[in-house]
Amino acid sequence: QYAVDWFQNRVNLSPDKSAVIDSETDEQFTYSELNERANHLAQYFVEKGIGKGDRVALLAPNHVSYFDFIFACMKIGSVFVPLNWRLSIDELSYVINDCSPSLIGVHPEFQENIKKVRTEYGIIDIYANDYVNDLHARHSFAPVENIAESDPLAMIYTGGTTGKPKGAVLSHRSILWNATNTIISWNLTDKDVTLTCLPMFHTGGLNVLSLPLLLIGGKVVISPAFDPSKIVSDLVNYQCTIVLCVPTMYHMMVQTEAFQQATFPDMNVFLSGGAPCPHKIYTAFRDKGIAFKEGYGLTEAGPNNFFIDPGETERKVGSVGKPMIFNKIKIVNEKGQETHSNEVGELLIRGNHAFEFYWKKEQQTGETLVDDWVHTGDLAKQDEEGYVYIVGRKKDMIITGGENVYPLEIEHWLESHEGISEAAVLGLPDEKWGEIVAAFVVPNSKLSKEEVKQHCEKKLSRYKIPKKIILLDELPKTHVGKINKAALKEKTMNKT
Ligand code: ATP
Repeated sequence: QYAVDWFQNRVNLSPDKSAVIDSETDEQFTYSELNERANHLAQYFVEKGIGKGDRVALLAPNHVSYFDFIFACMKIGSVFVPLNWRLSIDELSYVINDCSPSLIGVHPEFQENIKKVRTEYGIIDIYANDYVNDLHARHSFAPVENIAESDPLAMIYTGGTTGKPKGAVLSHRSILWNATNTIISWNLTDKDVTLTCLPMFHTGGLNVLSLPLLLIGGKVVISPAFDPSKIVSDLVNYQCTIVLCVPTMYHMMVQTEAFQQATFPDMNVFLSGGAPCPHKIYTAFRDKGIAFKEGYGLTEAGPNNFFIDPGETERKVGSVGKPMIFNKIKIVNEKGQETHSNEVGELLIRGNHAFEFYWKKEQQTGETLVDDWVHTGDLAKQDEEGYVYIVGRKKDMIITGGENVYPLEIEHWLESHEGISEAAVLGLPDEKWGEIVAAFVVPNSKLSKEEVKQHCEKKLSRYKIPKKIILLDELPKTHVGKINKAALKEKTMNKT
């Protein structure tokens, strides 16, 4: 039952401690205030007839209401579904119809969007609504008794990088164990402060640091918008000790004047995740003497899985580290056999932090979750000391003339060129070779295709040298800022 009521115990332990700050309004919430808001919302849900297993959705920028919703759901056994506000109306309709929520909380900013989607689900305005206005009317709320650890607590739609979004159902147990695993493995304490600037509808914003820190009694500063210079000053002003961003955000951040000037005296470590991190970003932090490390995760497993001491990142360039304390991994070849050291295979993960199933997608659940092992769809290798390196997505591997090519190796080499700001490598169909290696390159100064080719020839084996080089002003990105290779491929194929 611990998985179900940890939040109540945390509130009892540190009621008056500051738990959440909104960096836009500077509004602060103590643990007991957070609890009162959740009690109030839970009561509101109950009055609306919402109960165990019912979905409640939220469409909002990063905001304290994400915590109100998830903790209210924790108390009554309903399922929190954060909605991606960057989706088009059609995509949003798909997700809402898929999860059929009993109620949708909507921030005023998105009221118009939601009207275009569908009106038959109950909608509450999370600013003007009664649960906040009448806060002091109901202080306590007795949580529902019959909630099991394996019951769903949240359903997070995956990034959609590989197709239509799938609702990954996370149980109370999964969320608690991810938090516990993270606290122990990353040495988080109640002195830690994070800035949540990744979207909270994504596992990155919600689960990587925010919920673990609220479990241990730390502080979460919420940032509703990503302005790289403001993020730098907020990190300093709020005395943040740890932060997670995707590489695209770091790419923007390190270029700002604010970053060049800042010293980040309170920061223990900057953490990158969600996509491969260009080595240049490591260097930008190392040059300033600031700890930086890469994590790896996915909505369906954790998301936190590995730990690396930032002191080791120079010796183990590009590694995400070793498995966390409560995490089992194996790397398997096509036959399902475990690979030897330094041999590439698919990464499988098992632990209490794994997801339960995909909502209404039995077949995909069966393919991804086999005997409690999450098949990540990512390729990885582990060196003789146990350090894991992510090599790329399985479906992105290129087979050209019978040789396996891992795009990430070429991307890292391309991005090491000082005239290249970003690069994406993918396979394009070819009659002779099966697939050819194509490189999409964003130069940051004048650069010719010939120069890109010459750079590749300096290091890469012949079969890895891109046969097609395309210079672009920018690369398409997904809703969470990852390079969208599917869009890139589709666009290129339609043109040829
Ligand atoms: P979808 O599952 O719908 O295709 P998605 O894969 O982007 O979307 P997420 O759960 O947001 O879903 O992201 C998880 C994926 O991000 C991982 O499977 C992996 O491919 C990638 N990833 C995460 N961290 C890293 C990292 N450090 N290096 C390389 N890739 C990473």
